[in-house]
Amino acid sequence: MEPKIIFATGNENKMKEICMILSDLGMPIQAMKEAGIDVDVVEDGSTFEENALIKATEIAKIAGNCIVLADDSGLEIDYLNKEPGIYSARYAGVDTSYDIKNNMLLDRLKGVPDEKRTARFVCAVAAAFPDGTTEVVRGTIEGRIGYEIAGEHGFGYDPIFYLPEYGCTTAELDPEKKNELSHRGKALRAMREIMEKKL
Ligand code: IMP
Repeated sequence: MEPKIIFATGNENKMKEICMILSDLGMPIQAMKEAGIDVDVVEDGSTFEENALIKATEIAKIAGNCIVLADDSGLEIDYLNKEPGIYSARYAGVDTSYDIKNNMLLDRLKGVPDEKRTARFVCAVAAAFPDGTTEVVRGTIEGRIGYEIAGEHGFGYDPIFYLPEYGCTTAELDPEKKNELSHRGKALRAMREIMEKKL
């Protein structure tokens, strides 16, 4: 039987983006929960790559003959010494809404001029293959922190992540366009190429 892909995430928004990008691989893709896996992996790495590899390899131990993919992503704001970085999901507390998190970041950048508001989304995607080998790739998208919350699409920090060349935030892009430009889109397409060669 062909191996299937299990994506180690519980985030439905991410899962939608992932399925759109990997659909032409022609392999069934399941979220962890769908595959009956319900574990909390401690992400104690110090880089996006380390955390993605930790998640993929831990889940692979219980996933059987599957390719396990995992991502770790976040927002780096240069003016804040790359905060929130690998702590993006936990910034100001895991249970704090993104409306609050986004407003807190906008407050911390009050009075900071355009040229110092540079930021990027980073995404590392790791794969653990049934033969025990692993791969990890990184994708990024450069932008700036806007001055206000704008847009209804996407999730997380999208409403404050402004793309000067498009004149809008990533929350104002339609989902296909976001996938074309995004850190996750780039990393997943790079991983798709590796998988196509390997399978
Ligand atoms: P992860 O699940 O540990 O990778 O958490 C990623 C964190 O970075 C979450 O808090 C997300 O809100 C944020 N993040 C990652 N990718 C994006 C994105 O595409 N848009 C908005 N926020 C993102």
